[in-house]
Amino acid sequence: MTPIWAQLAYLIAAVCFILALKGLSSPKTARNGNLIGAVGAVLACVTVFFARDLDHLTLILPAIAVGSVVGVVGAQRVQMTQMPQLVALFNGVGGGAAALVALLELQHLGALSDVGDVPEFDLAATAFTIVIGAVSFSGSLVTFAKLQELMTSRPVTFPGLPVLFGGALLASVGFGVVMVLDPAIWSGVVLGLLGLALGVLLVLPVGGADVPIVISLLNAFTGLTVAAGGYVLGNTVLLVAGTLVGASGTLLTKLMAAAMGRSLLNTLFGALKGGSTLGAGEISDRPVRSAGPQDVAILLGYANRVIVVPGYGLAVAQAQHALRELADVLGDKGIKVDYAIHPVAGRMPGHMNVLLAEAQVPYEQLKEMDEINGDFKQADVVLVVGANDVVNPAAKTTPGAPIYGMPILNADEAHQIVFMKRSMRPGFAGIENELLFDPKTTLLFGDAKDTMSKLLAAVKSL
Ligand code: NDP
Repeated sequence: MTPIWAQLAYLIAAVCFILALKGLSSPKTARNGNLIGAVGAVLACVTVFFARDLDHLTLILPAIAVGSVVGVVGAQRVQMTQMPQLVALFNGVGGGAAALVALLELQHLGALSDVGDVPEFDLAATAFTIVIGAVSFSGSLVTFAKLQELMTSRPVTFPGLPVLFGGALLASVGFGVVMVLDPAIWSGVVLGLLGLALGVLLVLPVGGADVPIVISLLNAFTGLTVAAGGYVLGNTVLLVAGTLVGASGTLLTKLMAAAMGRSLLNTLFGALKGGSTLGAGEISDRPVRSAGPQDVAILLGYANRVIVVPGYGLAVAQAQHALRELADVLGDKGIKVDYAIHPVAGRMPGHMNVLLAEAQVPYEQLKEMDEINGDFKQADVVLVVGANDVVNPAAKTTPGAPIYGMPILNADEAHQIVFMKRSMRPGFAGIENELLFDPKTTLLFGDAKDTMSKLLAAVKSL
């Protein structure tokens, strides 16, 4: 029985989690929200130590120490651009931990069932935790490998994949029923292995551009797993925290799928229909028009209206400060400059907003996609800095392309388009961008920070 003081502490922790979510809903309060959530998590962990007589402290404490060191060092060292894969990894570990806890609990429930009745609902919740936790673990590892480019980020399919997936799904339902009828540890282990296979088969066919949606879905899975684990263990704080993660993960999945113009089913299984790998990977040797910083500076100097499209490459090159300076200089020359922010530009939601806020770009110059998409027709120059997929017209014109259906920024409607990138390599989705070959397009090749400084110097000297 959990003592009253501990139940109160759990309640406070649960309130912290709710306040944290509220705080995270706005950039101004996000930092505090994060802190409140962390305080809630520490409170919940410390409470467990004092509310129960824990066995195996000699194993638990070193495990916590190792986990904390890995977590802190990992989080400190990771580049902002690698944040999604870190989130994927942390999420997967959470799901895997919940599955392992449920397996141990199964041993306990199995022993109880030898001497009396164990409620079937408890066993069903345990089976759910094992299988979905395992899906979340292995699925998250595959998303990590895709984002870290340890494997191809293109959809991976093979003949028989749908049958294998369907078979594994049916088998896990079957073994779940077997486990409820006879809670033996072997059935839990088989269920866990099936979950691992399901996670891999679920994520392999997902193309690079859709990976963020799947990370969010797996996050929701982990939440549900933890909530079910909380039910099995009779732990309120796990139940509340898991439900919050499950609900917010589900909402985020829905919002991200909508931002990409995809349904969730299409995201997960679109590649199985055979279309999604279209055009992937090849680097074209078709001729393009390229120019130096001086020529682009003259183009900008004659403009009345410039729209900047920032993308992942801007973050990699850390060219945001030089970009802001360039926009300021253009502004001083009477040229109107805005930044067009695509919801999935960069490698995490809100990436461009964070990056440009760090460079102190005035908030009123940041325009969301819907707000600015009608303005491209009037733009004399669109400066695409390290972005690619978010302006790729294949999203409108090429059914079967991995980004088909994703709303894009209408850069193609501007009078002139300048791309600042290093090469003809494609963006994250791995497909060629027809806009690079458009007669209105000029390429300014080079690392964005380097070319931006040269462009800035050239514009200043006009
Ligand atoms: P892309 O990945 O499509 O394109 C980035 C471009 O930047 C590349 O063409 C690359 O070309 C260029 N680049 C890379 N490094 C540099 C550099 N140092 N200097 C100059 N250019 C550079 O980025 P977008 O922002 O357009 O699109 C984001 C993509 O990422 C979408 O497909 C989205 O779905 C996906 N994604 C988004 C997430 C999110 O939540 N925002 C999370 C995960 C994925 P080159 O190599 O020739 O320089």
